[in-house]
Amino acid sequence: MKKIPIAISSCLMGNEVRYDGGHKQSKYCLYTLSDWFDYKPICPEMGIGMPAPRPPIHLVEKGEQIRVVQVDDHDIDVTDELKDFARKRLPDLNRISGYIVIRNSPSCGMERVKVYHDNGNPAGKSTHGTYIGEIMKQRPELPVEEEGRLQDPKLRENFITRVFAYEDFQENVKAAPAVDQLVKFHSRYKYLVMAHCYEDYKELGRLVSNQDGLSTDKLIEQYEQGLMRSLKKIANAKSHSNVLYHILGYLKECLTSNAKQELINVIEQYRKGMVTLIAPVTLINHYIKQFGNEYIASQAYLDPHPIELGLRNYI
Ligand code: SF4
Repeated sequence: MKKIPIAISSCLMGNEVRYDGGHKQSKYCLYTLSDWFDYKPICPEMGIGMPAPRPPIHLVEKGEQIRVVQVDDHDIDVTDELKDFARKRLPDLNRISGYIVIRNSPSCGMERVKVYHDNGNPAGKSTHGTYIGEIMKQRPELPVEEEGRLQDPKLRENFITRVFAYEDFQENVKAAPAVDQLVKFHSRYKYLVMAHCYEDYKELGRLVSNQDGLSTDKLIEQYEQGLMRSLKKIANAKSHSNVLYHILGYLKECLTSNAKQELINVIEQYRKGMVTLIAPVTLINHYIKQFGNEYIASQAYLDPHPIELGLRNYI
């Protein structure tokens, strides 16, 4: 399988680019996800010409603005350079399907990076790092996650689902934009979207029917934004169970009453937190291989990411 292009904070790859001359190597990114991800390491601070080691920088509130300045000399301000660097890198990042960043960095942190007053005291607020903030502003659909948050099973599963879905969308819809390709894509993603948000599932269905007569480009752009916004919502046991019962509806004519009852029991065990999601999904996949029609067998929900990652064993 072709690896998915992903941007990553360079220090997470073990590159010694941090202000202290060190790195923050992530074993999970480097040794587990690398079987599927083709990383593009980026250090924005090195990218604007800062050396390693270098004096540390932090976020400071100046009037209405948040600036990135050197900790021991607030007159050294690299805000504009970091934003320009982000804008210059965007064309190269056109084809990535995700971005993994490091937390607490005034350049790369996705959220909750501390902001200080000009006198050095904490301002009691936080925001994103300046470089990644610019990337997220220009590419709101792009899955972005902090490496530390990937230790949370739900957030990890959510991020990796988004990356695989976005890669699929880029490969099969954006590469050669056409309404019939969008319709086919949506048909495969209905149940995955439903697990994340039922209202979005309805809304994306309405969008694809294109009653407003949008141009193909506009339609695909709006779908892309809506899809990625929806998948960012964390699916829970109730919404997964709802989807599993919908899928069961496609099988009930073919299953014996014992097999159907067994499947219902496992879905209920999952809903009550007695087993993880992999249990009902494995059983349902087993029956779909035997009895499922093409439509239901093609659902991304059944196989959203590689089984080897074991992501549904923990949620
Ligand atoms: S700027 Fe980003 S990539 Fe570079 S050292 Fe800091 S956190 Fe790592």
